[in-house]
Amino acid sequence: MGRGAAVLDRLGLSEADLPDTQLRLDEPMARHTTNRLGGPADVFARPGTRDDLAALLAAAHAAGVPVTFVGGGTNLLVRDGGIRGLVVNLARLRAVERTGPAAVHAEAGASTGRVLARCRAFGLSGVEFLAGVPGTMGGGVVMNAGTFLGEFKDVVVRVTSLTRAGEVRTRPAEACGFRYRASDLPADEVVVSMDLALRPAPAEVIDAAVERLRAHRRAREPHGVPNNGSTFKNPPGDYAGRLIEAAGLKGLRIGGAVVSPVHANWLVVDPKADPPCRAADLVALIERVRAAVAERFGVRLELEVRILGEP
Ligand SMILES: Cc1cc2nc3c(=O)[nH]c(=O)nc-3n(C[C@H](O)[C@H](O)[C@H](O)COP(=O)(O)OP(=O)(O)OC[C@H]3O[C@@H](n4cnc5c(N)ncnc54)[C@H](O)[C@@H]3O)c2cc1C
Repeated sequence: MGRGAAVLDRLGLSEADLPDTQLRLDEPMARHTTNRLGGPADVFARPGTRDDLAALLAAAHAAGVPVTFVGGGTNLLVRDGGIRGLVVNLARLRAVERTGPAAVHAEAGASTGRVLARCRAFGLSGVEFLAGVPGTMGGGVVMNAGTFLGEFKDVVVRVTSLTRAGEVRTRPAEACGFRYRASDLPADEVVVSMDLALRPAPAEVIDAAVERLRAHRRAREPHGVPNNGSTFKNPPGDYAGRLIEAAGLKGLRIGGAVVSPVHANWLVVDPKADPPCRAADLVALIERVRAAVAERFGVRLELEVRILGEP
């Protein structure tokens, strides 16, 4: 019996118990990460309803199976050994609704692009910053993702999550601990939805802000290489990219992982590397860059990317 089948057995579930859920066994996480790296998830589940999500969490809780939540995989570095237990992805819970004159309710699996497009159609401004942040609303709120136009904490008023025991928790923004690329949303709860407070604006105003952000990024960021965006957080008062570049590390390579020659804080994957890049290459490059910046400038860079799974 493969690992995935063994975990499904421990969960005591069959595909017939969860009619609205896509279940995949021994699913390569490389299919679900933007750096296209990562070994297999034992069981990868995409529930289509909240009931199925609650049933999955309850089964995992009862059986002591570890659970990992993933969104668009845009900020994840999944190691080559993959992820044990159950991986839950909410891509099918993705409704976006207007709930008041300037209020929107978004499910966690909605892509940021979809939310931006829907808010534009509602004539509501405030989420233009999402044009620079790929992934889902769930991952974005957990990361308090953002750009120079704003971040999640500017628009989120309430976050709803489910505990592993299946209890619903609704927190006002003040209780979410939002700060630079982080929040205090508990790692053992899954965010299912959030409420946003926006303001009315004509589509032209929204489009102009989005285009300004896109042009800024086009000019500064690498293209055509699998990546996670910025690898490190900016240290207080400085830029991780500036420090990495000043340490002479642009273009540094370990296996198929490279410090982008375009933007030094983007540690990217060379899609033509032979042998193909492994997550271990990128992890080793991260450690090499960190050590060099610490030695040269006495600054310990903190990761923005989240490393998951087994080596
Ligand atoms: C090309 C590119 C550009 C980027 N530019 C930016 C940028 O400008 N600014 C910025 O802030 N980020 C940027 N990022 C990083 C990334 O887009 C953000 O961190 C994004 O918000 C992550 O969302 P995700 O859905 O992909 O989450 P994932 O990467 O899948 O997960 C991120 C974290 O959230 C958790 N998580 C995901 N969904 C849930 C859920 N429903 N409930 C509980 N926990 C959950 C995961 O366990 C993980 O810890 C960029 C990435 C790329 C690839």
